Amino acid sequence: MSDKVIIFDTTLRDGEQSPGCAMTLAQKRRMAKSLGALGVDVIEAGFAAASPDDFNAVASIAREVKGPTICALARCNDNDIREAARALEEAEKKRIHVFIATSPLHREHKLKMTKEQVIERAINGVKLAKSFVDDVEFSCEDATRTEKDYLAQVVEAAIEAGATTINIPDTVGYTTPTEMFETIDFLKKHVGNIEQAIISTHCHDDLGLAVANSLAAVEAGARQVECTLNGIGERAGNCALEEIVMAIKTRANHYGLDTGVRTEQILPSSRLLSAITGSVVPRNKAIIGDNAFAHASGIHQHGMLSHPETYEIMRPQSIGRVDTSLVLGKHSGRHALVDKVKELGFDAASEDIDRIFADFKNLADRKKHITDADIEALVVGQANTGPWQLAQMQVTSGTGDAIASAAVFIIGPDGSEHREAATGDGPVDAAFRAIERATGMEIHLEGLSVNSISEGIDAQGEAQVRARFAGQSFHGRGTSTDIVAASVSAFMDVINRISRQMAKAS
Ligand SMILES: [Zn+2]
Repeated sequence: MSDKVIIFDTTLRDGEQSPGCAMTLAQKRRMAKSLGALGVDVIEAGFAAASPDDFNAVASIAREVKGPTICALARCNDNDIREAARALEEAEKKRIHVFIATSPLHREHKLKMTKEQVIERAINGVKLAKSFVDDVEFSCEDATRTEKDYLAQVVEAAIEAGATTINIPDTVGYTTPTEMFETIDFLKKHVGNIEQAIISTHCHDDLGLAVANSLAAVEAGARQVECTLNGIGERAGNCALEEIVMAIKTRANHYGLDTGVRTEQILPSSRLLSAITGSVVPRNKAIIGDNAFAHASGIHQHGMLSHPETYEIMRPQSIGRVDTSLVLGKHSGRHALVDKVKELGFDAASEDIDRIFADFKNLADRKKHITDADIEALVVGQANTGPWQLAQMQVTSGTGDAIASAAVFIIGPDGSEHREAATGDGPVDAAFRAIERATGMEIHLEGLSVNSISEGIDAQGEAQVRARFAGQSFHGRGTSTDIVAASVSAFMDVINRISRQMAKAS
């Protein structure tokens, strides 16, 4: 059996389904390129038949992203599979991923089909997909709650029909590592043709076991793991790419396996996703959280100074966390900036360096030392633009009886000009109200937080806004050396996400 674990990234399909993580076409393309740079083997670009937008996302990623196999999801029906094939036409390497639910709950209540009908549908789906592409993946949805004997029958039939990858998903995040091991082991022992396909797994994190379950599947012989950056996905999310990859790498002595991921690209890709979705990674998150490599206790610090391995199982550099002496400032030129952008792991060729350089000069006027975190904020900041633009804002605040007020001048999606003013409990509240008036959107604010992302009195603040609009949740981020401006830019980010979502839906 191969000692390579195939990394199948579904950030753009399953990940995008998580609340507040909807992405525009341009954002998906940017993210797909970053996943290509990260070195994932397969990018699941979307569910082509779901909507014209999804179709276009798959088609444009298929056209533009070379390197990884581009995969499109389809139910086992003619239309879905034909749409998937059509969207993938221009891909260099392509895969169609068909699925059908196999568990009794899904068969009886959702599909209203017998065991035999499900198998027949699976066979027809795989065969049709196979008529378009060689690389066909078949998933038994809710596999972990499916009768084992029946699961083995479905898998055998799918391989017989031409499936080259068999995915065993824990769709509802219900299984345990031991059970997952046993399920894969059972299939290996009871499916006659199992050697003709690669076994895959797709675990959800409802019980916090997605990575553990995926590793158990790998130990039992699975050689593909479906995962997402930052672990985003339906409900509690999917197996986190960064965790499974670093577990396999760090514990190579235990697993004896490898992935093709360029791990130094993990942090830049993770941060890009976080900037695009506005969904911030918790500080204590494994691998990518801000505290993941921080040693606070004196005893640990002493140990680290004597010998890093006393308390450190991975080097921060291995995931692209760089801490260099090259400090940028007001007089740094474009060349130094480009070097820094590259050093931080971004693909300078595909970034809008003119725009980043202009923002950099602006920031350097207000701030003496520009840190790596500042530069990252500038690079990923480009991910979020329009259609509403805040052209001007003025706020007043004070202490005691002073009334906070804000005036804003906002340009609408159609170029229309909106000027509004409002008062509020403090300048941030006043500004949010003025923006709501100007845009005509009533936002239910659920939370606002401001953190410093670099050090010193002139540090940049990063504001995060959580809000609801029309029953959906949205996240927004904004950075500035001024915390009111950071909060307002996070709020504008939410406004723009809502607008883009509405434009997409209409
Ligand atoms: Zn899923």
